[in-house]
Order: sequence, then structure tokens, then C-alpha cells
Amino acid sequence: MKAENPDLKIGMIGAKVAVDADGSLKTGEVIDFVARNEFDFTIKEVADGHSWSSIKGLSYRTEAGAIVHNEDRAILHDMDSLPWVTPIYQRDLKIENYFIGYLKHPYISIYSGRGCKSRCTFCLWPQTVGGHVYRTRSVENVVEEIAWSKKAFPQVKEFFFDDDTFTDDLPRAEAIAKGLGKLGVTWSCNAKANVPRKSLEVFKENGLRLLLVGYESGNQQILYNIKKGMRIEVAERFTKDCHDLGIAIHGTFIMGLPGESEETIRETIEWARKINPHTIQVSLAAPYPGTFLYKQAIENGWLDAEHAELVDDNGVQIAPLHYPNLSHERIFENVETFYKAFYFRPKKIASIVGEMLTSPDMMKRRLREGVEFREFLKDRKGAGATVDA
Ligand code: SF4
Repeated sequence: MKAENPDLKIGMIGAKVAVDADGSLKTGEVIDFVARNEFDFTIKEVADGHSWSSIKGLSYRTEAGAIVHNEDRAILHDMDSLPWVTPIYQRDLKIENYFIGYLKHPYISIYSGRGCKSRCTFCLWPQTVGGHVYRTRSVENVVEEIAWSKKAFPQVKEFFFDDDTFTDDLPRAEAIAKGLGKLGVTWSCNAKANVPRKSLEVFKENGLRLLLVGYESGNQQILYNIKKGMRIEVAERFTKDCHDLGIAIHGTFIMGLPGESEETIRETIEWARKINPHTIQVSLAAPYPGTFLYKQAIENGWLDAEHAELVDDNGVQIAPLHYPNLSHERIFENVETFYKAFYFRPKKIASIVGEMLTSPDMMKRRLREGVEFREFLKDRKGAGATVDA
């Protein structure tokens, strides 16, 4: 691109460059600048033509080739000062092209705030860009955007709030829910497995369909190890409340977190079958640079150079961590075991088939998901071969 257009300036944003702006600029010689941490107004100032030496939060390469790091930009608290993203979706995206198995199709996903109070050791965004203070847009601002989007995208079947933990501020979440209830939209969000029943009731009465919940593990000691701030019995009570109220759950789990063993893997699989979220996602523990888990993995020798890549050439996650009692290979293999043990049960198959038969929309989503799952297993076999080698 630079050969075609020598005036082109290339910048990078995101967690990796935020934690290692210097290394990124040194390694990527074609990169002119990095907008560290919260980049929204940093890149606006670059686009507006401000002198680079005056832009807070910017790291850049000078004409002479030196790398300069400007002072940090203050964390953003006035989240209403950010423009809405949905008019940009309308201008630039065909939303029907975006599919995610656990959401209705077509859907729209937005953020109503940034940051998460919790300190889970593996979790990337709060430890890099987002921080541990949940900074939010006002209730009115969020509800107005959804009202606008409802008119602009009449085909949308569901709105998703992708905030790390939308339920971190319950009074606000309830106020937004009531606003959405008046609009008559269906919505879903990320949540921690500790939302009280009273709040769940308010959400459900006002259009909540699904919660995306990070359970991570069914073993209490692992939850302590990763500072999840979650007790198994609280998660069980929450899940039962959701079942009672008819709120679907997409539960996410992680294999290979510190303290994992063959036994805790079996325990987690059994627990997932017992609490029975509607659908699940199983990932491999990924020690991203900038997280506590990364530091811990380096210090303890759980991460070695041979397996340091987090994904293979197909974008399939590989298991970079290993422990004296548990190899990369066994962690990797157990992801597939988990999916099979969870889904290939007569009760689960019957419920999925029943759902498909009563809803053509569900039929389309599940078939598409099935094809993607088969492709995923095929790609994993390839990745597995790499890991085995
Ligand atoms: S609660 Fe969720 S978003 Fe928050 S730190 Fe833990 S894993 Fe990350």
C-alpha cells in the first residue's frame, strides 16, 4: 500500500499494540503510529491533522526514524461524547452479512459502556484498554440509539449489548431495560453469573432474551485461581433463575486455566451438563500479553516459545499453556470432548430438534451453526496435527 501511495500513514490500535507500543513500532517498520489504550479521540486528532507531537496517547515514528511516546491520554468518562456507531452501520454495513449462532439473525451489536469491575486474570480488555471502572453512556443516550436503530433497521430481530459486563451496574441496566421494554425490542447482553432474580425479572419483562455468561470452570478452586469472584452455588442459583424465567443462556467455558487437571476438566463438563445452559462455547486458556495470566505463565514456565502463538494459520485457537500434570495436547483434545459430551445427549438433541421444528428461523440458525461446527472440528484436526508435531 505504501508503494502505491507514499503519503499513506498507517496506524494501529488495540490491546497488543497498547501494551507494547515500542515493540510494535520497532517490529513493524511500515507502521507510522500507534494509538495506545483508548484510541477514539487520539485517532480523531490524527485524522483532523493535529501535530503528532501534541496528541496525547500517541506513539509514533518521526521523519528521522526515532520512536516517540507522548504522554498518556486521560481515561474517558463522558461516554456520551462518543458518537453512535449505528449510523455508520447503516452507511457502511450490510448487517445481514453478520451471523452469530446464539443471536437471532439479523442482529445489531453495540456498546453502552466500557470496562469491567472484575479482575479475572485471563481477561484481555479490562487489563489493557477498558480498565476496571465500568464507564457508561447515559440511559437516555442508549435508549435513544436503540429507538433510532429500530426505525433505521426494521429487519433487526435482536439488539446485543457487548459491554464486558452489562449487568455490572444493575440500577442502570434495569433503567435501560425499562426503556427498551417501551420500545418493544428483543435484546440480549453479556452478564456475570451473579445477577439477582429481581433484576432478571425486570430484564425479562422488558424484552431480554439471552444472557452470554462466562462460567469458565465448574471447579471452585480454579475460579479462585483466576480471581473470577464467583461461587459455584451462586452461579447455579442464577442459572436456575434464568431457566425458571425463560431467559436463554449461552455459557462460555475455558479449558486449561491454572489448576486444571484431567479431573477438573471432567468436573467442569459434568457441571455444564448439570446446569445446562441453552448453548455453550468452549475456549482454550489464552495468555494474552498484558494480562496477569501471561505474566504468571511466563514466570511458571507454562508457556513455551514453540506454543506461544495463540492461533494457527486457519485462525483456530491452539493450546499455548501446559502444566506438569497436563499437556497441551490433552487440553486441546478436551475441548472437543466437552462439546460432544454437552450436545450429544438425548435430552439436548431433543430440545434442539424440537426448537428447530417449531421455528424456521431457528432451523436456519442451527443448520448454519452445525455446518460451522463441522468445519471447526475439521480445522481443529489440522491444528491438532500441528500441536502433536
Ligand atoms: S467478569 Fe468477564 S469481562 Fe469482567 S474481567 Fe471477568 S471475564 Fe473479563
